[in-house]
Amino acid sequence: MSDTDPRLREIFEAVAQAIIAHADELTELDAAVGDGDHGHNMKRGMQAVLGELDALSAKPWNDALKAAGMQLVLKVGGASGPLYGTLFMTLGKSLDMPPTREGVAAALQTAIEAVMARGKASTGQKTMLDVLVPVSEALAAGRSPAEVAEVARKACAATKDMLATKGRASFLGERSIGHIDPGARSSLIIIEAVAAQLGDVK
Ligand code: ADP
Ligand code: MG
Repeated sequence: MSDTDPRLREIFEAVAQAIIAHADELTELDAAVGDGDHGHNMKRGMQAVLGELDALSAKPWNDALKAAGMQLVLKVGGASGPLYGTLFMTLGKSLDMPPTREGVAAALQTAIEAVMARGKASTGQKTMLDVLVPVSEALAAGRSPAEVAEVARKACAATKDMLATKGRASFLGERSIGHIDPGARSSLIIIEAVAAQLGDVK
């Protein structure tokens, strides 16, 4: 039985292209609170995903997510590479096939827990988790893709007023306040790209 899904290629491509298109913005955000490499890091990882698109789209969702996660670990670097790599690899490992809404919500929750363990972080510390956790909750609550994207937009905007207590931005102390977290922004870009591909799918 073939577990491949024609939407997989479109979704992976849309996510990668969205990150690449926003690389300069991500780098500017990281220049304000970090070392100005987040856009460059993510672009390198997503270019690797684009390069693997034929191989990825021949796989079922769980294996494709694991393989994309490995690319991100290998190519992104920085703090975010291992964290996004863990997110995608655990998502793939935890996803029951064929994917259902409930199955994706459960796998995302497991994947976020793995990111938290890996980065020893939680919500409220001004990181990607401040977008990923509310997104996971909205998904589990049965929200539509458009609603999930809206939750992600608000969550990303809310990182602006947060004090960073994890990652490089925490070195700035109070001066981290007033800037959107770059990893929260890259997570939002990924969620928006997936949601736009899924449209009104319930
Ligand atoms: P680096 O900080 O090593 O330069 P990047 O610039 O690529 O790495 O990524 C920075 C982003 O990584 C931050 O904006 C934040 O969202 C995320 N991040 C950093 N540390 C953690 C952590 N421990 N847990 C979750 N996310 C983190
Ligand atoms: Mg950085």
